[in-house]
Amino acid sequence: MTSTDQEHWTRVKNRLRAEVGDDVYSSWFARMELDGSNGETVKLSVPTRFLKSWIQSHYAERVLACWQAEQPGFSRIELTVRSAVLRTLVPKCKAPEFAPQRESREIKINGTDLRHTIAPIAAAHDGLGGSPLDPRLTFETFVVGRSNTLAHAAAKQVAQGRCGDVIMFNPLYIHSGVGLGKTHLLQSLAWAGNSAAERKVLYLTAERFMYGFVAALRAQNALAFKEALRTIDILVIDDLQFLQGKSTQAEFCHTLNALIDSGRQVVIAADRPPSDLESLEERVRSRLAGGLVVEIGSLGEELRLEILKSRAAAAKQHHPGFDVPDAVLAFIAKAVTHNGRDLEGALNRLLAHSKLTAQPVTLEMAEREVRDLIRPQEPKRVKIEDIQRVVARQYNVSRADLLSSRRTANVVRPRQVAMYLAKTLTLRSLPEIGRRFGGRDHTTVLHAVRKIEGLVNTDTGLAQEIELLKRQLQE
Ligand code: ADP
Ligand code: MG
Repeated sequence: MTSTDQEHWTRVKNRLRAEVGDDVYSSWFARMELDGSNGETVKLSVPTRFLKSWIQSHYAERVLACWQAEQPGFSRIELTVRSAVLRTLVPKCKAPEFAPQRESREIKINGTDLRHTIAPIAAAHDGLGGSPLDPRLTFETFVVGRSNTLAHAAAKQVAQGRCGDVIMFNPLYIHSGVGLGKTHLLQSLAWAGNSAAERKVLYLTAERFMYGFVAALRAQNALAFKEALRTIDILVIDDLQFLQGKSTQAEFCHTLNALIDSGRQVVIAADRPPSDLESLEERVRSRLAGGLVVEIGSLGEELRLEILKSRAAAAKQHHPGFDVPDAVLAFIAKAVTHNGRDLEGALNRLLAHSKLTAQPVTLEMAEREVRDLIRPQEPKRVKIEDIQRVVARQYNVSRADLLSSRRTANVVRPRQVAMYLAKTLTLRSLPEIGRRFGGRDHTTVLHAVRKIEGLVNTDTGLAQEIELLKRQLQE
């Protein structure tokens, strides 16, 4: 794959995002990657079969059209499912022989081969219809730092609970931006919980939950599906933001209530807090928010370095010649700020490069190899509550005033500013913003946004104030 391919790909993604909108884009395309091209075929991959079939049936033509707008020579898209094994991102080479196969690979933790312990757990879990568990994602390989201490402790607590223990928080709801370790934590919990053998932990992606339910409906044994779900002790659902469709959501709500009410544990991960899961009904959202809600913050440099160190050490077990100097690790930890996936990607590239060229890993090589992973830090996820808090403080009113129906000038303007900021700094829709501002209509929000947009053009004082607020919120 050439760097021009990558550049085209970046433009294709932007085009796609502009066409389908941010929400759809991040739901379906955020994890799509370019694997290369071959004549008239572009090769793309996604991490799950479900994403593949969904994109194929709903967006195949659109994706191709976006490519053709960039590169008219392409006539076909080949979409594959990435395997969980170490991949190389190196140009057009066939599956490299050093890529370990998942089934046969040794899995060592602290020098012990865990294949024999892992296999029965995985088999039992698959038997329950769970989503595949990645043997690398365990508590042993999870690095704890400031941003994830609480989430880690909570997950561990759940995994260690025994039958009959009082459940401390239900559901446990973990949220964060992409690549910050939610799936890693949830799968760790599933491994650890199931290895105690006393309880059954089922890990499902929301996609799998939907799939299972839809398949059960088709086969007309939805009841059996429900029963099966209700026989487990801990239900873990990953990527809840993908749960779509009225009947699946209703089913999810049922299952959630049934499990919680019968004293069984539910653990959920999503890319946003419960209150922002717009497509879910209010009562489901509040049930989700009723347990423990924990956010995983972005990975600090220190944590990134620790993760890299442990990854490099793990890779060395399989590839003894793979030595990554500390300076290189420190460079990557500093430069690649985005998320855990990019850290993994960066190391995989170094590994591929050193294997294919048999050259030692140097700082220069690292700089070259990871150049395109170095990007400006993602803007922080801004929450509507934060906007309300910061605006209220700035204008010396209370947050309740902003949400109230009071229409005095000292409240109206700050409220409009807050709505304007909510529209410009978050991906929330107008109706959603209205709902979060004391149940106002979306036309009221639209009016506020237009009003402020007009004013900032003429009123430099207000424009500066707003800039300041934005900066406070994004730092
Ligand atoms: P999410 O589900 O939040 O999008 P993942 O759990 O898939 O993120 O994490 C992305 C990558 O980063 C994975 O390879 C994961 O192992 C790694 N990662 C993230 N946080 C940590 C951590 N604290 N310790 C070790 N690896 C981590
Ligand atoms: Mg995940």
